[in-house]
Amino acid sequence: MAGHATTKVVGQTDAQVTPRFAGLTTFARLPRLDQVPDYDVAIAGVPFDAGCTYRSGARFGPAHIRQASRLLRPYHLGLGVAPFEANQVVDAGDLSANPFNIPQALEAVSQGAAQLIADGRRLVALGGDHTITLPLLRAVAQRHGPLAVLHFDSHLDTWGTYFGAEYTHGSPFRRASEEGLIDRNHSIHVGIHGSVYAESDLGEDTDLGFSLIPSEALEEGGVGPVVQRIRDRVGDQPLYISTDIDVIDVGMAPGTGTPEAGGLLTRELLLILRGLRGLQLAGADLVEVCPAYDHAEVTGIAAAHVVYEYLALMATEPRRLSNESLSGHQVQQ
Ligand code: MN
Ligand code: MN
Repeated sequence: MAGHATTKVVGQTDAQVTPRFAGLTTFARLPRLDQVPDYDVAIAGVPFDAGCTYRSGARFGPAHIRQASRLLRPYHLGLGVAPFEANQVVDAGDLSANPFNIPQALEAVSQGAAQLIADGRRLVALGGDHTITLPLLRAVAQRHGPLAVLHFDSHLDTWGTYFGAEYTHGSPFRRASEEGLIDRNHSIHVGIHGSVYAESDLGEDTDLGFSLIPSEALEEGGVGPVVQRIRDRVGDQPLYISTDIDVIDVGMAPGTGTPEAGGLLTRELLLILRGLRGLQLAGADLVEVCPAYDHAEVTGIAAAHVVYEYLALMATEPRRLSNESLSGHQVQQ
């Protein structure tokens, strides 16, 4: 927008005037989309969970994460940035999706996302189950070309079909790879743990373009080497980060639909994200928060902090992504 650099950014509601527990709920008490003339980063909920195979209820995730985000403050000490000053961040509300027709829902999410990311703006989506990552990747890849995908999850989510259904929360990355949305040389799963169907699952996953860091890697070498492996794999490609909250140990994130024992500490996940400064972050999501299984907001708080890390990373980069700013990459429009 013209004169954007001089436009005053609208940040959080002043907590010295309106206490953090008061007022209407937006993510981190940020302005709504319709309260500012323009924005750089939109946060949007995608309350859809019709692709869920076990415990349902992630449709209530966006509202729960927003409520748990009320305590987020303006300055990120770890990265030395003020995420809501460096960018105009807004809460764009929810993208509505048909709860009974999955293909229609995917189309609505992808169209809604494409609108929000026009002209180099960025989107951070709050799920919803992991099915929603496929339409989000469609929208972001349409703009930036095939994406390096950094996927935090206890599960691979590259399974084929479930009860004959192609579009579920267990298959978004297989479909995305088949559709050419993923850069197969630069994508990676982190934090995989729990049981799988067969050893061959891993081989198929490699063919779809993912390398893999299991959760045990954190125990063996700590955060530093994991960060380095991610950075080496992603390189300077346009990056999309998708975090399934079940990557965190079920003891620290019980409010989720497909819980597995043996996951990351919340602190490890936040520190890994903090190590990604300088990568070309084009978009991100946080999915699978299922509040009915949460206790004391612990999962919601973890999710809100992951999103805060995304916003802090985005604050270290140019406000608007241009195709030129994504170096070394052929954009397909
Ligand atoms: Mn999962
Ligand atoms: Mn998942």
